[in-house]
Amino acid sequence: MKELEERIKKDGRVLGKDVLKVDSFLNHQVDPMLMQSMGKEFYEHFKDQGINKILTVESSGIAPAVMTGLSFGVPVVFARKHKSVTLNDDLYTSEVYSYTKKTSNHISVSKKYLSSDDKVLIIDDFLANGQAVNGLNTIIDAAGANLAGIGIVIEKSFQKGRQLIDKAGIPIYSLARIKAFDNGQVIFEEEKE
Ligand code: 5GP
Repeated sequence: MKELEERIKKDGRVLGKDVLKVDSFLNHQVDPMLMQSMGKEFYEHFKDQGINKILTVESSGIAPAVMTGLSFGVPVVFARKHKSVTLNDDLYTSEVYSYTKKTSNHISVSKKYLSSDDKVLIIDDFLANGQAVNGLNTIIDAAGANLAGIGIVIEKSFQKGRQLIDKAGIPIYSLARIKAFDNGQVIFEEEKE
């Protein structure tokens, strides 16, 4: 998505080897107009899949997920993060390790909001090693729901998440695909280096 790639080039900042900071429009301040365009783009891509629920994880997935839910006209559920979860029969839970934060979180979704009637589109802000998506998928399985596909705002294609998803045969659509960081510059998949 050209508009997003241009915004990343203008406002994104590369930190260290493999982290992109996009606090000015996605992870801290949020640009609602851009979120709305992204929601429409995800809708155009996945509209024929019978999706009736959007699933994300707090907090940075919520803005793009809500705008996607608006385009589809379906509810949006966000998994909550906890340091630990004491046994609770009303929740589906899974464990997610964050390489960026070097911590493990449990994520959970109430059984009230996910069931075998649901055909789910996962939306998240970043795809790196695929841990977050994997945790959400575990919850979808536990609920007996169906995963229709995965929509990612910014994919870092050089980390292993994309490969894992492709290997599992799950439909994925990423709005920006980053091939590499080169001296603080972002190189997108389509571009020549
Ligand atoms: P994964 O679970 O795929 O390894 O990482 C995805 C999660 O880690 C995303 O939900 C996002 O919150 C965070 N993340 C991973 N890489 C980046 C990055 O380069 N920048 C930012 N801002 N967050 C990231």
